[in-house]
Amino acid sequence: MENDKLTTIRHSLAHLLAMAVLEIDPGAKLGIGPVIENGFYYDILSTKPLSNGQLPQLENKMRAFMKRNPAFIREEVSVEDGKKLFASQPFKIELINDLVSEKKVTEVSTYKTGAFLDLCQGPHVKTTNEIPLEGFKLTKLAGAYWRGSEKNQMLTRIYGVAFETKKELDEYLKMMAEAERRDHRKLGKDLDLFMISDEVGKGLPLWLPNGMFVRRKLEDYMYQKEMAKGYKHVLTPVLAHENLYKTSGHLAHYKDDMYSPLDIEGEKYYLKPMNCPHHHMIFRHDMVSYRELPLRLAEFGNVHRFERSGVLTGLIRARGFTQNDSHIYCTKAQLKNELLSVLKLFKEVYKDFQIKDFWYRLSLPDLSNEAKYGDIEDKRMWDESSKIAEDTLKAFKVKYVKQEGEASFYGPKIDIQARNVMGKEDTIATVQLDFYSSKKFDLYYINEKGEKEHPVIIHRAIMGSFDRFFAFLVEKHAGIFPLWLAPVQMRVLPIAKTHKKYAKEVYKALTAAGIRVELKDSNDTIGKKIREGEMRKIPYLLIVGDKEVKAKSVAVRKAGKGDLGAMKLKQFIAQTLEEIAKKK
Ligand SMILES: [Zn+2]
Ligand SMILES: [Zn+2]
Repeated sequence: MENDKLTTIRHSLAHLLAMAVLEIDPGAKLGIGPVIENGFYYDILSTKPLSNGQLPQLENKMRAFMKRNPAFIREEVSVEDGKKLFASQPFKIELINDLVSEKKVTEVSTYKTGAFLDLCQGPHVKTTNEIPLEGFKLTKLAGAYWRGSEKNQMLTRIYGVAFETKKELDEYLKMMAEAERRDHRKLGKDLDLFMISDEVGKGLPLWLPNGMFVRRKLEDYMYQKEMAKGYKHVLTPVLAHENLYKTSGHLAHYKDDMYSPLDIEGEKYYLKPMNCPHHHMIFRHDMVSYRELPLRLAEFGNVHRFERSGVLTGLIRARGFTQNDSHIYCTKAQLKNELLSVLKLFKEVYKDFQIKDFWYRLSLPDLSNEAKYGDIEDKRMWDESSKIAEDTLKAFKVKYVKQEGEASFYGPKIDIQARNVMGKEDTIATVQLDFYSSKKFDLYYINEKGEKEHPVIIHRAIMGSFDRFFAFLVEKHAGIFPLWLAPVQMRVLPIAKTHKKYAKEVYKALTAAGIRVELKDSNDTIGKKIREGEMRKIPYLLIVGDKEVKAKSVAVRKAGKGDLGAMKLKQFIAQTLEEIAKKK
């Protein structure tokens, strides 16, 4: 079955859904029912509220129609007749009026299925026999404004998914359930990692102690790595005068992603969307000699970008976030080597975080896009920098895909791509080449001959933003952080009162070894204490009872793995310290 066929099936199911709704609510008004990724939806203004509990009932009605095998019959009618046919459907009338005014149509097409008629372009299946009876499912309800505008009425959107076979449907539903279980927004709440408060504002996460603990670990880790690689950390403010962004080109190319300016003593200031211009000013404040290059400025830079409320997604898409940012200023001759060492650093870091499934994407410009790439008059710059980027990837001996039109407005870039839990491709980090900003900003260094020369700039963010990287880790590990990152690494759980004394000894020994441990010696049942520990995704639960007291051991339960059996306390501590040191 080709994709067109599946699209046709999904769209036909949308019609059947509308039919089913009209059967339980004859007064319902129909919006539109398009195909979307993996399925379809229909927007409906019902006379009585619909609930998720009614979805199986609607599904059954759809299947009952399908068993009668009605045909989808197309008919072209005059605009006038069309308006008569849809007289009781005001949204359809509005659509017809738009077709007339925008596309100057004189006829509209309709599809009839049994007694149901819809205004529709098609195509559709011939009869419902072509639709797999068990290949679809209605999944959820959501509110949606008519035509996406909050000025209009709120309709109910009924979502469905549909595939060629029941097997594919089941696999998809399983993946969805898994993604939901791992969703960092859900786990963020369950594990008290971060919160979003309406009073603070949409897209502005607040980090709670547990989440901040992990994040600080990530920051410490990156800081140590960068210091060891000769980076120099700086700190720059979140606001800057508009002149800076005029020079940088952000106001010309990036304004839609920035917030409205603040007025300070009659002058305009913007929240910084990127750290680059600030770092360029730091580079420029002192005359740099070629001997000091490469100069690698790094910052955990807090930036703000305008994300529409509809696309906000926890920490993955927020309005403010902190980049693990750096700008490397070097000579052209040093560029390839610097790029290589950046790629090596990526590899090292991802290895430590057990990120194995990633690949490289070389993003090149599409020079026909004048609005995006027209600023750089020197087209040779694009050829030269694109070639260096590609040569570096070749020298690094990795596979990469090329993508035109994805380069930033100042140069080509190498993106590190990975799949998220939903199986979707996502950029987790980028390295950008920039032959342009040093001219814009009048950045120079003094070369061997004592002359002024423009440096080349590499923009790079290894973890992307700490916020996104954190969310990525939460989902990758389903909330069970690797031991070295976990805020609480283990809990000691005595079975009965008589084991409390030994439990305390275990707790003290673990604490003395530098392990982050909690003692849960309440009188709750051991079953309850284990369940609580599992819900909190504590990596290890150590249960102690008669046997353990006697043998100076602990019974070990590992999160996500279950019972590992008893182990001598000393041996367990040694093993744990190794696990932490190796970042397993
Ligand atoms: Zn249709
Ligand atoms: Zn930058």
